[in-house]
Amino acid sequence: MPELPEVETVRRGLAPAMEGRTILSAAVNRPDLRWPLPERMAERLTGRRVERLRRRSKYLLLDLDGGETLLVHLGMSGRMLVSGVQLGAFHNEHPAPQKHDHVVLDLDGGARVTFNDARRFGAMDLMPTEGVEAHWLLKDLGPEPLGNAFDETYLAARLRGRRTPLKSALLDQKLIAGLGNIYVCEVLHRTGIRPTRRADRLSAARAATLVPAIRTVLEEAIEAGGSSLRDHRQADGELGYFQHAFRVYDREGAPCPTPGCDGTIARIVQSGRSTFFCPRCQR
Ligand SMILES: [Zn+2]
Repeated sequence: MPELPEVETVRRGLAPAMEGRTILSAAVNRPDLRWPLPERMAERLTGRRVERLRRRSKYLLLDLDGGETLLVHLGMSGRMLVSGVQLGAFHNEHPAPQKHDHVVLDLDGGARVTFNDARRFGAMDLMPTEGVEAHWLLKDLGPEPLGNAFDETYLAARLRGRRTPLKSALLDQKLIAGLGNIYVCEVLHRTGIRPTRRADRLSAARAATLVPAIRTVLEEAIEAGGSSLRDHRQADGELGYFQHAFRVYDREGAPCPTPGCDGTIARIVQSGRSTFFCPRCQR
């Protein structure tokens, strides 16, 4: 399931092919994904220029010159493919149409962007650019972890009075937008904080260490995604999924990578989801 770094990698991969380009044609091959697609979607996209490709949490936002914004969520299995453009040494030819190609955009300049989603947990919506923040999927989201509104003071205030495990607090999208299971496990390991610790029992000093750790973990993952784009490992034009070495995520039984720690990574289940941590150095 794509998390913030994967979505940011998709954004960076799509931007050169889409920004400043006009959508010459849009094929919308079914009426719905997770929810119904916008009315007259193909018509509303055709002829519009993509002014800017932004990201909010795990949502892509394409601002169009007509004053509307297309929101795209990849869901569980959504993939974005770009073809008809030069990717390093490869000129990416348009692939043969695949099953589950639900939305296909052809842009001037020759690029084609295909949204393929086998499980259809993805979503798209069109709305006035002015007021995007009020969209029902976005209105309750907390600050961006890489933005200025997220800092030590904010986090300390929001953890106060929370009796839930710290891991659940950090997964709360109202507290911080875009953090998912994988990167929360990694952040807690970096900071040596046990995922089961009650949020309101964490000292202010330890809570403060979470802010730079969250930024570093996400930035490293975005960098790994960026290298995968630069190395053209995605010669097939698929964006967003890349190999990234995790320290604890999905590493149950492996030795703890913390220097000087001889612990073993354990797995527990919290709120129905796997948590990976080192019982020795995470306190
Ligand atoms: Zn350890």
